[in-house]
Amino acid sequence: MSGRIKADDIVYVREHAHIDEVVSAAGVALKNAGGGQKKGLCPFHDEKSPSFHVTPSKNYYHCFGCGAGGDVIDFMMKTEHLSFTETIERLASQIGYTLRYEEGGPAQPTSQRSRLYAAHLAAAKFYQDLINTSPDAAHARDLLTKRGFDKAACDLFGVGYAPNSWDALTKHLRAAGYTIEELEEAGLSKMGERGPIDKFRNRIMWPIKDISGDIVGFGARKLASDEEDQGPKYLNTSETPIYKKSQVLYGLDMAKKEIAKSRQVVVVEGYTDVMACHLAGITTAVATCGTAFGDDHIRIIRRLLMDADTFRGEVIFTFDGDAAGQKAAMKAFGDDQKFVTQTFVAVEPDGLDPCDLRQHKGDLALRDLIAKRVPLFEFAIRTELKKHDLNTAEGRVNALNTAAPLVAAIRDKSLRPEYIKSLSGWLGTETEVVTAAVNAALKKVSTTQVPSEAPAADAQWRPNPTEPTLMLEREVLKAKLQMSGLVFGWSTIEDEAFTHPAYRELRRIIDSFGTEPLALEKVEDDRMKQLFTELSVEPVRTDGAVSEKYVSSIVARLREVLVSRKIADLKSSLQRLNPVENQEQYNAAFAELVALETQKRGLHELSISSL
Ligand SMILES: [Zn+2]
Repeated sequence: MSGRIKADDIVYVREHAHIDEVVSAAGVALKNAGGGQKKGLCPFHDEKSPSFHVTPSKNYYHCFGCGAGGDVIDFMMKTEHLSFTETIERLASQIGYTLRYEEGGPAQPTSQRSRLYAAHLAAAKFYQDLINTSPDAAHARDLLTKRGFDKAACDLFGVGYAPNSWDALTKHLRAAGYTIEELEEAGLSKMGERGPIDKFRNRIMWPIKDISGDIVGFGARKLASDEEDQGPKYLNTSETPIYKKSQVLYGLDMAKKEIAKSRQVVVVEGYTDVMACHLAGITTAVATCGTAFGDDHIRIIRRLLMDADTFRGEVIFTFDGDAAGQKAAMKAFGDDQKFVTQTFVAVEPDGLDPCDLRQHKGDLALRDLIAKRVPLFEFAIRTELKKHDLNTAEGRVNALNTAAPLVAAIRDKSLRPEYIKSLSGWLGTETEVVTAAVNAALKKVSTTQVPSEAPAADAQWRPNPTEPTLMLEREVLKAKLQMSGLVFGWSTIEDEAFTHPAYRELRRIIDSFGTEPLALEKVEDDRMKQLFTELSVEPVRTDGAVSEKYVSSIVARLREVLVSRKIADLKSSLQRLNPVENQEQYNAAFAELVALETQKRGLHELSISSL
């Protein structure tokens, strides 16, 4: 076992890992937000407009929506669910830095998750070698060839073959130094009656990668007949510390760049469909792995399709049959409709899946299928209409009565008139009649409408970032955290100048650093850590240039506000004093007032000097 990572190396990694790259690799599309910052949709809470800010120069991130914040190490620990050591090891390998360990231990990743990734990589190589060389894999190669995948295609996707053996992989990986416990935890081996055996046998193997390209599991197709192998046709890795099926999209590592660039994602159903799409030039195709497309998948996709302040782009689902399509389409009205608005459906009329279609009709036919997509709302409404005989008056009335509530359920009001027009066309009924039916349905749904997204509730301790009376305090703290070198006269700022307890506490923390550089990791309190990052990344509010002059002016203004407050207090107590009875006291207060007024004028001059 190796020792702890040397402290200097942790510092090195913290400073040299690129937070914007790490955040992007986690599937968060980032846009420039000005002031050297970038922003995107927060991976820690569900949101539709970006409040997640990243400051590459400081390697900090902060979300103004949920308050999550920290450095690059903290970000990776949370998003990848890694331990501290695992995170340092992963970041170090990403920046090509060799870590040194205490007690002379070997510079090798030893953390549990790293071992699981490594075991999967070794297994994938083992399977891939076999599909290319083993005579037993002839059947697998045949099947792939028949489905239109040559060796180059299989190599591109790392397709492999799990031999028809009880423990070939288990033995192979044990010889490579993996323990039975590790292989079981990875989901590659399981305990049989006479010892550990392979989880996958006599199957075609597709390595499943996470968004950053690490292999986390396998999808496996049965080769033997049902009599020989009673297992399911497709078998996937079960849940492990590195494989969560609700969060994995097959092909995403290859497709993510193109998805973000072209703002389109094509969701297909199987591994071979993803391969067929990519080979046909639809390089935005992904598939879920043995589970339905769910909320976690929506979140992943939405982050990739982020553009500036809005979620733009198209999500295209392909369905090989009406039944699956219908079910998905009807579900759409219950789902998050902001996502659904941009959702399209491509249904192959002959019931061919993308892989079949490419095999029988070629790449062009597959691209054509995607090009002929229709909006999901349209598909859902027309699916409903198909259940009625539109040739009879009675059928048309029944169809209108079932379709009108669907149009009424479209939450984006601007889309409804379009669908009313379309629906009257599909039915062959007057627009006025359809409008009336939709309006009647609207009255019913209005009572069951879902409330709009509620803003994240701020805890009491956290100062409201948009509170005008606290704005100056906030700006001065931001300046101190973001450009300490430009802040002169920091020590002249009176403690009472900060009126919010959290701001005052942060000031105290900043002062506790003395001449040392400000460092987030030295802040102990979690709330203060949050505020520290929040103010370290929030853009400075100025129309002009951020200069020493500007900073001096806000420091002066903050002090001027305090002096003004003192003057107001003093004036009110002067009013209560009787100059005859309390002459001494009155004179002292009056002298103080004059001094404060002088001080205020001086500060005021300074505060407007940058204008
Ligand atoms: Zn957030």
